[in-house]
Amino acid sequence: MSVTAQSVWDNCLSFIKDNIQPQAYKTWFEPIKPVKLTNKALSIQVPSKFFYEWLEEHYVKLLKVALVKELGNTARLVYIIKMENTYGNKKPFTEKIPSANRSGVRAQEIDVPIKNKSPELKNPFIIPGIRNVKIESQLNPNYNFDNFLEGDSNRLARSAGMAVANKPGGTSFNPLLIFGGVGLGKTHIAHAIGVDIKDKYPEKMVLYISAEKFTQQYIESVKKNTRNDFIHFYQLIDVLIIDDVQFFSGKSGTQDVFFHIFNHLHQNGKQVILTSDKAPVDMQDIEQRLLSRFKWGLSAELQTPDFETRVSIVKNKLYRDGVEMPNDIVEYVAKHIKSNVRELEGAIISLIAQSSFNKKEVTIELAKQVVEKFVKNTKREVSIDYIQKVVSDYFQMDVSTLQSKTRKRHIVQARQLAMFFAKKFTKASLASIGSQIGKRDHATVLHACKTVDNLSSTDKQFRKYVEDLTKKLSL
Ligand code: ADP
Ligand code: MG
Repeated sequence: MSVTAQSVWDNCLSFIKDNIQPQAYKTWFEPIKPVKLTNKALSIQVPSKFFYEWLEEHYVKLLKVALVKELGNTARLVYIIKMENTYGNKKPFTEKIPSANRSGVRAQEIDVPIKNKSPELKNPFIIPGIRNVKIESQLNPNYNFDNFLEGDSNRLARSAGMAVANKPGGTSFNPLLIFGGVGLGKTHIAHAIGVDIKDKYPEKMVLYISAEKFTQQYIESVKKNTRNDFIHFYQLIDVLIIDDVQFFSGKSGTQDVFFHIFNHLHQNGKQVILTSDKAPVDMQDIEQRLLSRFKWGLSAELQTPDFETRVSIVKNKLYRDGVEMPNDIVEYVAKHIKSNVRELEGAIISLIAQSSFNKKEVTIELAKQVVEKFVKNTKREVSIDYIQKVVSDYFQMDVSTLQSKTRKRHIVQARQLAMFFAKKFTKASLASIGSQIGKRDHATVLHACKTVDNLSSTDKQFRKYVEDLTKKLSL
């Protein structure tokens, strides 16, 4: 009997069926159609991008085992996403296979080599002097401007990004620094700029890299005595995108090397794009000369999106995934998840998944349950005991020292911080906070809160304490 896509897939299915819940099998595997088999690559058709992501996230191991069993070690899986109404962009997921256009239905193909999932920078160091080298840009085409929804919260950053993409190195936005809180789209915009530049100027060398990876590469190059090659490599790039530069904090070697690379690129009219979770003024332990460079160009802040923007982000995501959901549910979710777009998307995905697992309609009830989980996770109530513990740990003292009657300055400060956070993070009254933190009265607590407020606006070091502790307490 000859081996066909159908026969291979049938065998995979019978193996998969034995290894997962019947409901999950029905939901995630029955809708898949085997399409073709070329060499050792099996193409399967899935109904949406969401579907593909779900398979990759939850069943990639199982799929791998099944496929290797059938086709051997060189087996590969190619996803074909076929859906009605695809939003916006013309780009397929990978550059490999262009999307086919059949009567308004768009197919996207994703070629997933079954072994290494995230391709590393293939050629981190290239011998200097060769101008025509190709590098892997490390860009994610799923992050583009078309699917980055505009709102008041991101208008400046988005349009500055587009301006830079139109004329890399040719605007006054150099460097372009995008900053803002977690999950607000910094990484998305950073990729979108790179993707757009590659689209318009295919010959330009664009590189996206996280500050963390840049740092690792640098350390590695020092170890291997190839620091110069490292610098030369980065000096060849036309558009350098570094994500999360706050990671450079306190790393003086990396800052130094980046400073030199930056100057070289800037002098040669090359574009630099940076993202950070803080505004330059608030960055700690970054050298002044580097901070002043950051300010040469434009710093654009991403703020939390307003309700309308959140609704459009959700609707757009549903549309792209080919999923329908009643308006009141979309609005309910957008109303309650406010501060982080990643969480907003997470809630929607979890909602879709739950409803398709249980074959239930998405109801307001279900939405409430899902939203509650997300909101609870972010707003866990902390106790006064816990606050005292965290503050004393931070200053490396015992809780009893923190509560003691001593007037030593650093202990008084720690105590005042504990009171301040107790006021901020709990619903306890001033009197009750005082009695739990070393038996003080309510006036002492009030005074503590005022002192902390004052000090954090006048004293940089003190502000750092407040920020660090806020982070620790909000985890
Ligand atoms: P950050 O890097 O700031 O932590 P990300 O860029 O990773 O945030 O964004 C988190 C998620 O939210 C991503 O999936 C991104 O696509 C999405 N997102 C953020 N802002 C928008 C927007 N304006 N429109 C569409 N998607 C957005
Ligand atoms: Mg990011």
